[in-house]
Amino acid sequence: MSTLAPPKRPEIKTALPGPNAKQIIEADQQFVTPSYPRPSFKLVAERAEGVWVEDVDGNIFLDCNAGVAVCSTGHCHPEVVRAIQEQAAQLIHMCGTDYYYRHMPDLARKLDEITPVPRPTRTHFANSGTEAVETALKLAMHATGRERFIAFFNSFHGRTLGSLSLTSSRVAQRRGFRRQALDVTHVPYAYCARCPFNLGRCADGSCCLGGLDWIENRLFKTTLPPEECAAIVVECVQGEGGYVPAPREFLQGLRRICDEHGILLIVDEVQSGMGRTGKMFASDHYDLKPDIICIAKGIASGLPLGVCVARADLMDWKPGAHASTFGGNPVAIAAALKTIELLERELVKNSHEVGEYLQQGLRKLMGKHDCIGEVRGLGLMVGVEFVEDRVSMKPAPELRDRIEHESFDRGLILLGAGQNTIRWSPPLVITRENIDVALEIFDEAIAAADA
Ligand code: PLP
Repeated sequence: MSTLAPPKRPEIKTALPGPNAKQIIEADQQFVTPSYPRPSFKLVAERAEGVWVEDVDGNIFLDCNAGVAVCSTGHCHPEVVRAIQEQAAQLIHMCGTDYYYRHMPDLARKLDEITPVPRPTRTHFANSGTEAVETALKLAMHATGRERFIAFFNSFHGRTLGSLSLTSSRVAQRRGFRRQALDVTHVPYAYCARCPFNLGRCADGSCCLGGLDWIENRLFKTTLPPEECAAIVVECVQGEGGYVPAPREFLQGLRRICDEHGILLIVDEVQSGMGRTGKMFASDHYDLKPDIICIAKGIASGLPLGVCVARADLMDWKPGAHASTFGGNPVAIAAALKTIELLERELVKNSHEVGEYLQQGLRKLMGKHDCIGEVRGLGLMVGVEFVEDRVSMKPAPELRDRIEHESFDRGLILLGAGQNTIRWSPPLVITRENIDVALEIFDEAIAAADA
């Protein structure tokens, strides 16, 4: 791919996967764990720039997934690449759990400034989303002396043993692991398009009181004494569950319940954070103040970094309570600081503006395709739900998979989420012109798949 003139459209030159891709997939199938949940289409990436990804056969794709909502500043943003290269030439690793370097307090100070957790805060550094969640769980147990949790159906918080106890978006994630490590009670999420309480749609958000009522009047009075609950863990916009934004009243109601019972509110912004929703954090849309927030994915433009930011009075555990050899590696932090600079300079704004444009375009497609049940989202975190028809709203998971595949065959990278949703999570550098091309391809793909 030329570094001088980015393409305007995808360029697909071979059957997919192409001959070089096939070889790599074969080797992968022989030597790599089969547990990765790969979709039916097969992308073998070689290099990427901005919103464009080139595969090993020279095919060029328009990326509207960003490595699952990670490459926030676009692939290989030149300023991020420079920050990584300069840092790598100076100090790659020192182990921040035993030694000091300036990067850790620099990023922790910045997170204290930008996260919605009430200040003062403290930050623990790890390498991934699941580790950020593990930190939050351990901290909540440590700070409250309690060990039970509330989480939500369709949530995804990771796959290590603690976070897996919260995760509930697909049974495949649980199958074979039997008893879970932590005591977690799951509650229906406020998924308005498919109201779990059959309360139907409402304009004022009052239906989401169903979940709150479930916690207060069912759980707390039967199986879960509130004084035993350490934390409620929630995504403001469910990610893997299908890009479902919660209503404001639901999240504010959780905050109230927590305050009334000395329960901590852990907000998992691993997918929704770092400008993805058109504000720095999804919590900002709701004026929500978490006690603890988990961040990963978009924070370092593709370098592994997961952080847990908590109220300083909570994160007052003693040396040895929790640490990580690689967490907060100087190179990852250099990438994060540059990422945040770019987000603040222009990309959060772009996410908001181009996200609105994308949603408008997708809503227009609803006029043409009765199989689009709902378009929903915030900023550049947009879900398109596919149904048999808009009257029955019966989920159409196979159609969704075919559309994902037809899009890929035309050079557009999109990924499913939940049972029947396609998620749009492009790099936040995406332009209106890119969106026009993507929507044109998506329209064709839907028509082809739904023929
Ligand atoms: N939390 C949320 C909301 C996520 O979306 C994810 C990953 O998709 C995780 C946690 C786990 O992150 P990781 O895959 O980096 O462990």
